[in-house]
Parts: sequence; C-alpha cells; structure tokens
Amino acid sequence: MLKENYDEVEKNILTACKRANRSRDEVKLIAVSKTKPLSDIIEVYNEGLRDFGENKVQEMLKKQEEAPSDIKWHLIGHLQTNKVKQVVGRTELIHSVDTLKLAELISKEAVKRDIIVSCLIEVNVAGEESKFGVSVEDALGLVNGAAVLPGIKICGLMTIAPFVDNPEENRAVFRKLRQLSVDIDGENIDNVSMKALSMGMTNDYMVAIEEGATHIRVGTAIFGERIYNT
Ligand SMILES: *Cc1c(COP(=O)(O)O)cnc(C)c1O
Repeated sequence: MLKENYDEVEKNILTACKRANRSRDEVKLIAVSKTKPLSDIIEVYNEGLRDFGENKVQEMLKKQEEAPSDIKWHLIGHLQTNKVKQVVGRTELIHSVDTLKLAELISKEAVKRDIIVSCLIEVNVAGEESKFGVSVEDALGLVNGAAVLPGIKICGLMTIAPFVDNPEENRAVFRKLRQLSVDIDGENIDNVSMKALSMGMTNDYMVAIEEGATHIRVGTAIFGERIYNT
C-alpha cells in the first residue's frame, strides 16, 4: 500500500521536473516518517528510498537504533539547544538552523568529534508568528555568522511554507527563498554553498520543484495521515 503512495509521489515528481525542464536527479525526496512506525520506514526502504526525515531528536535516535544503517537521516524540525549533543554526528543534514547560538553549539560539538556537520538555514519566508526560522532580512547575517564557525558547513536554505488550500498560493514563498539563496550565493562567502533548497511538502511539492527545490520533504502523501497522541 505504501508502495502505491510512493509510486504516485515519484510520478508527480517526474511530472513537475518535466514541466520545469529539470532532471529527476536534481530533486531529493525525503520521506518524512515522524510519528510512523519503523515497519513503515522499512516498507518504503525496500522500495529503494534511503533519505528519511524526522522532526524530533529522540524519535529519530530511537528509530536509528533499529533501522538499516545506510539510511540517511534528515533532521527537519526545530532543534532545541539542549539536544545538540545527541544529534551531532547522527544526521545527513540538519535543515533547521535558525539562530547563531544554535550554529555555535553545533560547531562546538562537531569540533569535539572532529567532524563536519552539514546544515541548512531555516528561513521564515512568510513571516508567520507560529513558525521558527530566521527572517528574510536577517538570513544573510546568520549565514555570515555561521560561515566562520569550524565544524559546520552551510549547504543552503530551508523553509516551511504556510498551510494553504491551493498550493499555487505558496509559489511566491518558494520563489522568494530561491531568490534569497541566489542573493546570498552572490556574496561568495567562504565555506558557504547555496546549492540546497529544502522546500515543498505533501501539499505543495510539485510547485516547489517548479521553483527550484532540491530537497522535498514529503510525509502524508507517502505514509498517510498522522495521528498525534496528545
Ligand atoms: C511534518 C513535516 C513535513 C511533512 O509534511 P507533510 O505535509 O505530511 O508532507 C515536512 N517538513 C517538516 C519540517 C515537517 O515537520
């Protein structure tokens, strides 16, 4: 059953890539498995997917213990400063660096372990109160601040677009993130790449691909609706 979902998502990714004249391998699909059991992850893993996204450190670490070791884990949710120690060295990419303090803590742990941690800067493009992320105005300053830290590599930008009925409403948000990455790239900052653009979720990943997404984070379309225990 998850195979059918996954096939459908793949088909849509191809359609969007064609529309945008992009090649399929420019877009990485991250299967967002938060709240879902390991058995679901394995089912999709067996179809060939290797990139999985979690938004909570504890849940990610727990799944890592039992999941196949060649899975690449993406931390996509807000990272609390007191969780940094546990997560450094356990991720393919941290998508959610949004303060200099957080970047500094990641750097400190990375240096201790003698590794380089790949990170994206999360930008709150739409300026929603409820969301984490640095403002568009402050993004360059944060990138500049993080760029000089040892043990951390800034690879691009990430945004969580607003929840909207019509995905077209988010096109301007994606375009703005893309433009911001082009602007920052133009600054030619040492130790900074703006290659990665993590944007687009179940509701709007096709539009995001058309606007240049390199990483899409898709949960519901692959795993079905989430049930939260409150
Ligand atoms: C949950 C989550 C997603 C996936 O959302 P869906 O709408 O289920 O695809 C993507 N990005 C982040 C940061 C998330 O927390």
